[in-house]
Amino acid sequence: MKKLELLWKLEENNVNLDKNLKKLDILKKELETGSIEKKITNINRKLEILTNNSGIIKACIIEQENSLTQYEYEINLLNDKLYKDNITDIRQLEYLSFEKEEIKKKLKEIEIEMIAYMEEDESIESKHKDNVFILKELKENSKEKSSSIKNELKSLEEKVKQEESKIKEIADKLDDDLLKQYNNLKERKHSPIVLIENNICIGCNMRLPTYQLEELKNKENIINCESCGRILYLRD
Ligand SMILES: [Zn+2]
Repeated sequence: MKKLELLWKLEENNVNLDKNLKKLDILKKELETGSIEKKITNINRKLEILTNNSGIIKACIIEQENSLTQYEYEINLLNDKLYKDNITDIRQLEYLSFEKEEIKKKLKEIEIEMIAYMEEDESIESKHKDNVFILKELKENSKEKSSSIKNELKSLEEKVKQEESKIKEIADKLDDDLLKQYNNLKERKHSPIVLIENNICIGCNMRLPTYQLEELKNKENIINCESCGRILYLRD
């Protein structure tokens, strides 16, 4: 194989290798900080908050229940005084009745508040259930996903190894000076060797002089673009 052909093959393999190395990098990162892992962390945090809120609401309900018992007790006391004791003082009677109505009002308020708390508790509980379910699904997905990523990684690493040995094989066939020139260009430019299409260097879009095109056709010598310096390659 002519050296220019070898160089072109080398470039093709290098391009593939770069692509696969990038893919490998992305997969490794995905495996480390998978988006599913993040979601699981978020759900766990939400569950913690919900449990916390539910505890607060339950404490409120107990407090309200105690108040209710207390007010019911007070009403009974007042009833006893009103109907069993023989109160003769009309003012005292009026006062006790008034107090009884006030306590009744408070009792009603507490009952309403308690219903609201209970409804909130129910909604927290249902949210909690939903999140536990989502968490379970996510954990299962995460296991599946990470094992599929691991498989992909393995086959990609195999591919990279093959490409690297292929590159070494080609490089061994090229003489040192040409390899040096290629590597120097590779360090400075995106593509060290480029195609010519419609007599134009694809690397810099400059039209090539006719004498260069003739020289390129026999593929014996290495020709660099006069404008960008890249090695030129004419496809058959
Ligand atoms: Zn050029």
